[in-house]
Parts: sequence; structure tokens; C-alpha cells
Amino acid sequence: MSRVFNFSAGPAALPEAVLAKAQSELLDWNGSGMSVMEMSHRGKEFVSIAAQAEADLRELMAIPDNYKVLFLQGGASGQFAGIPLNLGAKVGDYVITGSWGKKAHKEAGKYITANVVAKADPFTSVPPQSEWNLSPDADFLHITPNETIEGVEFPFVPEVDVPVVADFSSTILSRPIDVSKYGVIYAGAQKNIGPSGLVLVIVREDLLGNADPKTPMVWDWQQMADNDSMLNTPPCYGWYMCGLVFQWLKENGGLEKMAEINERKAKKLYDAIDASNFYANPVAPECRSWMNVPFTLANADLDAQFLAEAKEAGLVTLKGHRSVGGMRASIYNAMPEAGVDALISFMADFEAKNA
Ligand SMILES: *Cc1c(COP(=O)(O)O)cnc(C)c1O
Repeated sequence: MSRVFNFSAGPAALPEAVLAKAQSELLDWNGSGMSVMEMSHRGKEFVSIAAQAEADLRELMAIPDNYKVLFLQGGASGQFAGIPLNLGAKVGDYVITGSWGKKAHKEAGKYITANVVAKADPFTSVPPQSEWNLSPDADFLHITPNETIEGVEFPFVPEVDVPVVADFSSTILSRPIDVSKYGVIYAGAQKNIGPSGLVLVIVREDLLGNADPKTPMVWDWQQMADNDSMLNTPPCYGWYMCGLVFQWLKENGGLEKMAEINERKAKKLYDAIDASNFYANPVAPECRSWMNVPFTLANADLDAQFLAEAKEAGLVTLKGHRSVGGMRASIYNAMPEAGVDALISFMADFEAKNA
């Protein structure tokens, strides 16, 4: 068996130790004689798995007690609608710094007046808050702290009078954050947490209880909070896998340590790109993502050859999103530093041969 370095944006690589642990428990979880996939979500075994995962996440992120943590389905995209509905909002302000924020804004527009208070053009930076046109009647402000496709990350947390709602899908757990600065944090699991099929919602309690009566019950945060996210059958195996990732993070120094490693991984890759005349990244330096690093080759005719030779070298899923072109290296927590080193050295060789 040989595992590749997988730079997929999502579903993305998982820590090998987590996969090995899941494999060892696959047929018989903890003496139960069954797989976690086969357990009742109401049974004491799964209830303990679920509760432990939440407790570990709370500890890792230092989530204050006045926040609920929900494990829901429908992905981050489901919450694009779930947010305006649950907040009982009439008006939402959206800062658009990339493709996901644009989608979130469009979906919200089906339910509420969704205003664009600032939009980067092109998607290579975050407009400073002093340039935003905040609405006087907004019920919330929505941001995408890390735009996965364009590799643009917010270098600050907005200071506004309304709750900040943040799509943390591709940067949650990459470093410590101050949860209390946000009203709602949500994140699809398949980037930096676990397998797809699960979305985390971390919501301040005072924002609950305002849901539009037409909110689908499976996305009703209050009802889900009252039922430990088990109003209906949850994505049990994904929840368990997320729990294993949380344990792995705790065993490996927590989010401070992740931040240190992630910053170093990203810096060396950007430094290599900036030092060459062959590779380029268009994002403003202070807004460059630690998690998703898009880059182009000086000659796009070499893209296919780059991808083929990278694959030969065990470096896979480097193709950039079709809307941006070029390459994208997603280097979430599970990407070992050795994978980034291997990519940098492959890039230097490729440049030497083809520039
Ligand atoms: C991947 C992603 C999404 C979409 O997630 P789904 O789980 O596929 O709905 C939304 N926002 C961001 C920032 C993402 O990276």
C-alpha cells in the first residue's frame, strides 16, 4: 500500500492515524460487537461517541457555554438557506470575497432582502471594513472567512452591531479563533474536519427561537439543539469520524500547534511561488489563505503535463477550480508538512526543466 499526498479541496485528505483507528474499530467498536455504522443513534454506545465528539470540539475551540454545537446534514450549502430562516431575518448583509460567499448571498435572496455590502473584484483581496456599505436595518452580517476556490482569507474579524455569521467550511480548526466574536459559525465537514455529509453549526443561544415557521425541521437550530442534533437520524459514521479527528487534534497539540504548522506550511509554499518567475499567485499577501493555495504556471499549455508528472510523483488532485484555472494545493491540517515539501521540490524541478 502506498498513500499519495492528496491536495484535494474537499472531500479532502484525513489524518492517516485517524483512518487507521477507524479501520481497527470498523468491525467491532469498543467491544460492542458492531460497527459504528450499524448502531442505533439512540443507543448508549453512539450517544457516548456523539457527546465525546462535542466535548472535544468545545475544548479544542474553547467554545463558550452560551453556544450550542449542532451536527447537521445538508452541507454548508444547506445553511445558506438555513441561516436567514433560523434567524427570522428580513435583511442580511453579505460581504462577497469569493465564489462561496456569492452562492450564500444568492440563496439567501430567495428568503430575505440580501444586500451586498462589499464585493471584491476580482476575488483576490478583502475590502477593508471602512469601505463597506452596511445596511441600517440588517439582521446579520455574513462573511466567508476563507474562500476555498480563490484562496482568499479574511485578515480581520468584522466589528459590527449585528451578529456576524461566518462560513468557516475550509478554515475551521486551522488555528484558534475567538468564537465569542461570532453569532453563528458553520462549516461543512469535508474540508478540515471529517467526511462529507455533515455540517457543524455553532450558534449563540440568544439567536435561537426566531426561526421562520416554514424552516424545515431538520434545519431548525432550536429544535435540533433541544434534541442533541438527533431530531432524526444523524450522519452517525461521519460524526464518529469527526470525533476521531478531534481526538487526533488534541493528541497533536491542539489548535495552537496546528496554527504554527499551518502558517509554516503556507509560508514556504507562497515563498516558493513568489521566488519563481514561473509560478504566480494573485492574492494580496495579507489575504492569502493558509489552507487553499491557488497558483498558475507562466504557460498554461504546460498545465496538463504538470498534473501528469505531479501524479507520477505521488502528488494528486492539484488541478485548480475550473473558474480560476491553473493549480490549487489544499493544505489542510491533515496534509503533512512533508507533503508540502514534496510539492515545493517537485515544482522547482518542473520549473528547471520547462521554464
Ligand atoms: C465546500 C464549501 C462549501 C460547500 O459545502 P457543501 O458541504 O458542499 O455544501 C461552502 N462554503 C465553503 C467556504 C466551502 O469551502
